[in-house]
Amino acid sequence: MDAIEEYVARHGDQHERELAAWVAAPSVSATGEGMAEAADHARDLLVRSGLAPRVVETGGWPLVVGHGTGPAGSPHVVIYGHYDVQPAGPLAEWDSPPFEAVIRDGRMYGRGTGDNKGQHLAQLLAIRALRDCEGGLPCSVTVILDGEEEIGSPHLASTLAGMRKELNADVALYSDGPVNDGYEPTVSLGVRGVVSFEIVVRGAGAVFHSGNWGNVAPNPAWELVWLLGTMRAPDGRVLVEGYDDGVVPLTEAELACLEALPVSADVGLDRFDLATGGVNERLAMPTFSINSLTCLDNDEHRTVIPAVAVARCDMRLACGQRTSTVVDAVQKHVARHLPHAEVRFKAMMEPSRTLPDAPFAKVVLDAVGAAAGRPALFEPAMGGSLPIAGITDGLGLPCYGIQLANVDERNHAPNENFELRRFHAGIVTAARVLQGIGRSE
Ligand SMILES: [Zn+2]
Repeated sequence: MDAIEEYVARHGDQHERELAAWVAAPSVSATGEGMAEAADHARDLLVRSGLAPRVVETGGWPLVVGHGTGPAGSPHVVIYGHYDVQPAGPLAEWDSPPFEAVIRDGRMYGRGTGDNKGQHLAQLLAIRALRDCEGGLPCSVTVILDGEEEIGSPHLASTLAGMRKELNADVALYSDGPVNDGYEPTVSLGVRGVVSFEIVVRGAGAVFHSGNWGNVAPNPAWELVWLLGTMRAPDGRVLVEGYDDGVVPLTEAELACLEALPVSADVGLDRFDLATGGVNERLAMPTFSINSLTCLDNDEHRTVIPAVAVARCDMRLACGQRTSTVVDAVQKHVARHLPHAEVRFKAMMEPSRTLPDAPFAKVVLDAVGAAAGRPALFEPAMGGSLPIAGITDGLGLPCYGIQLANVDERNHAPNENFELRRFHAGIVTAARVLQGIGRSE
């Protein structure tokens, strides 16, 4: 054991108590529950890691930012995390109260344990461990804790743009989401963007008897189905003209990384979608998913012509796509094919990509592998979405995701949890990465 591992082992109980206290502080950005107190709590955590704290107003929930200076000339690392959490959801489905951290079978349960309090606390405890064991930081660090990630970080990119000078950094890191379930350890190089929307088609103003009015009253469900049929071909090609303008093809190096990454062991699929390409490659490409189809006024089977039909949809965006282009393309397509349909856009995030040969990529990969005791692999694009384009595109930094949580962390669901052995190991991993970056120049 080296000094950091010994420190983490010795302070294990205390670190768990700090995580429990953080989880017990509700911070639901969607409703505002506990947000003001949580910003104070986050600020205290930064101070306890020796960082100079600052609360940055955004127009929504604030960013809580902390800075620590490393040796002269050392790299400057931005670490992104978020202190807000999802709402608790159905209380009856929780085995213990969501905002009361409870340990069972080596896991801590509670809303925010994995997403994201346990993961950014591991980063903060790594900073504390480095200070206590080595008398200072190996590199300069600015920790940014977002208060709006769970509501799509609507103010993050513009706020970061206004902080360009103080965020004149060399590299960015984040720990969010679960480890890759096909192989670990991995380092994530990017995320897909997202545009979610619903298409609403109205009929003739009311629900009509399908015998008395069939062939006379227009059926909005049929119209919606026809419209959707014009948007994606049976072979998986998306037919919305212009929606993928700007897509940057995967490089040889990225394709090699995707090839090396095993396919998730436990995908649980009975059959596959017809889109072409290898599984990992498909997870890096644009998508168009129908999330649900409903006729809001006909939950039972009644022989009627519905009044309203709704399709809830999302598109995941590959690198190079822009949310504004996708919105425009969808609007134009619907206007051309079914002018009386209404499109309502909802959550959006830009995609983000860092290439496998970007600055510090190898250093981060090696450090994560060293902490795990076996080589780490790059994951060129996570299938999901995170608001890190504000860092990669907005600040021009390479950004590396080091997932620390267990695959079954049940983030966003009842009984969210974080395996405590991963929490403790995550502190060591985060410290190794900062040490590696500090040594690299
Ligand atoms: Zn989340």
